[in-house]
Amino acid sequence: MPLGPSAVAGVLVEANAGWRTFRPVINGEKCTRCQRCWLLCPDGVIERGEPYFQIDYNFCKGCGLCAYECPVKAITMVKEGDSNG
Ligand code: SF4
Ligand code: SF4
Repeated sequence: MPLGPSAVAGVLVEANAGWRTFRPVINGEKCTRCQRCWLLCPDGVIERGEPYFQIDYNFCKGCGLCAYECPVKAITMVKEGDSNG
């Protein structure tokens, strides 16, 4: 069993075609860098960047799994078009 995504972000998925209705936004103040979202994102689009984890919105499908699974609720799903986040 590989530890973490078996490919770097953007390799196994198709670019978002514009149908995403909500996008995940990470609150860097709350994030503990536990890596859970990075491990569980089905599209492998979360990158362990600095200063905190970042999401490649070109490939994120907006499924919300990362926000659901974040143990400290550091990820909020924001409606596309909203300026919040
Ligand atoms: S699951 Fe939440 S706390 Fe863990 S790395 Fe992701 S955003 Fe940070
Ligand atoms: S919303 Fe889904 S596809 Fe987008 S980063 Fe979170 S888990 Fe990955």
